[in-house]
Amino acid sequence: MKVAYFSMEIGLNEHIPTYSGGLGILAGDHIKSAADLEVPLVAVTLLYKRGYFIQTINPLGQQEEIYPYFDPRAFMEPLPFKVTIKIDNHDVHIGVWKYNQIGINGKVPVYFLDTDIPINAPADRLITQFLYGGDQHTRICQEAVLGIGGYLALKKLEPGVTTFHMNEGHAVFLTLALLKDLNGNEEKVREKCVFTTHTPVPAGHDKFGYDLAYKILGSHLPSNIRSLAGNDVLNTTVLALNLSRASNGVSELHGEISRQMFPGFDIGHVTNGVHHLSWTGPEFKALFDAHIPDWRQQPQLLADADKIPDEALKEAKLRAKKRLISYVNSVTGAGFTHELLTISFARRAAAYKRATLIFTDLEYLFNLAFDRIQLIFAGKAHPQDQPGKQLIKEIVNTAEQYEKQVRLVFVPNYNIWLGALLTQGTDVWLNTPRRPREASGTSGMKVCFNGGVNMSVLDGWWREGCKNRVNGWAIGDDEDQSDEEAAFDLYQDLDDMVTTYYANPRQWLSIMKRSIADLTPVFNTHRMVMEYMRKYYI
Ligand SMILES: *Cc1c(COP(=O)(O)O)cnc(C)c1O
Repeated sequence: MKVAYFSMEIGLNEHIPTYSGGLGILAGDHIKSAADLEVPLVAVTLLYKRGYFIQTINPLGQQEEIYPYFDPRAFMEPLPFKVTIKIDNHDVHIGVWKYNQIGINGKVPVYFLDTDIPINAPADRLITQFLYGGDQHTRICQEAVLGIGGYLALKKLEPGVTTFHMNEGHAVFLTLALLKDLNGNEEKVREKCVFTTHTPVPAGHDKFGYDLAYKILGSHLPSNIRSLAGNDVLNTTVLALNLSRASNGVSELHGEISRQMFPGFDIGHVTNGVHHLSWTGPEFKALFDAHIPDWRQQPQLLADADKIPDEALKEAKLRAKKRLISYVNSVTGAGFTHELLTISFARRAAAYKRATLIFTDLEYLFNLAFDRIQLIFAGKAHPQDQPGKQLIKEIVNTAEQYEKQVRLVFVPNYNIWLGALLTQGTDVWLNTPRRPREASGTSGMKVCFNGGVNMSVLDGWWREGCKNRVNGWAIGDDEDQSDEEAAFDLYQDLDDMVTTYYANPRQWLSIMKRSIADLTPVFNTHRMVMEYMRKYYI
């Protein structure tokens, strides 16, 4: 067995800006767990020299973007060969960089594809420059480089691949290269491919007009492409579903939604996880080492979290929290304290995530929060997402306008590093997506590995993990709600949570322990990769 894992973004650490959110970080965690578990896997992605931007907030509360140039040479080595593919009827050359610092002896290499090389025409050098930056034209060229270029590169570098795992439809053009190699035999292509879909939002599935597809991909397209990818437009998800032996969504609910969106396809689910060794902070690593020694190899042993003495747990959380608060104060001057219940909300500023739901009734929030709660916000909006940018502005402006009424701060430049700091230090992780748009979500899982508690709408993974008021809080029931209903339930839960935190610290510690014991054994990528092995790879 040998798996080739293809992803448009892979987030390995904060220094390599080839990710922009949950999809990329999940891919990075998948690869890291595969390496730890010695699963024979190689990964392929694109090298964005101007990838995930640095976010600053100007005095008007507007997001500004800086794209520093990423020099890969400090992290990976250029391989001495190129592959060449036809795009829009001319040759595009693709350089390959190898990152081999994951796993023992670099047994899980990550290959980064790069068109920014001198023999290419200037326009082609730009194909891999920006992550999700361009128009449809750039996007289909990127997907051609990833799928077709990646397939050809692996043919030279990693012979004997038995399974191509397409992480999202972006990689689907690898099936076209496979079709060519297998003389158009669709059944044989299907035997080699598995596919994971990641979004329940129809607009999140890439579709290309056939004019554009023929212009860019030309003879790569088989004559029956419309029967494989849709009649009117080339739908990458439909093509992937048609040419995979198995497909899955990333939580139970997302599996259901995906089957409704794509009737006739057999779509299962593997709920996402996080790589426990990457997201557990130094305080909880030491705590677990002391009380549950083999948790590093077997995170499921954390089910024994009851063994951890209350005092040691409290102490570890306090130290992680102080680390967070001191950073927040240093960059914002907010004057936060480790003595107050700290709630964080950090995610991509997309409208459906409803970052400002908690502002629905400001008067109520101020009364509830006064001298009891402090709120930390973070998150980036896609540079072209005006409503997302407006959300950030509203948070920043609310913080300024009501600084006497509520302790509220926006911390700029959410990335892997800040995501780790926040999930390690916070008491509570708030998540209020409009159900069922959150396919899985993973940031809340990171919190569990650090003794924090989730308060979230029952969407994605939380619907599977939550025991209300036992290991966290559920906002609403197992059904879709209007914004008004969700806000009402959110305030009720906040009330309950504040009371528990201050009036019943024993109960709070018990919820922290249950958050570790119930949730970390399941929502980690070791379990996830083993599930992919069992259900889809073998
Ligand atoms: C974990 C993480 C995500 C994904 O989290 P969601 O729960 O899907 O929002 C996104 N961005 C960063 C920087 C992260 O660390």
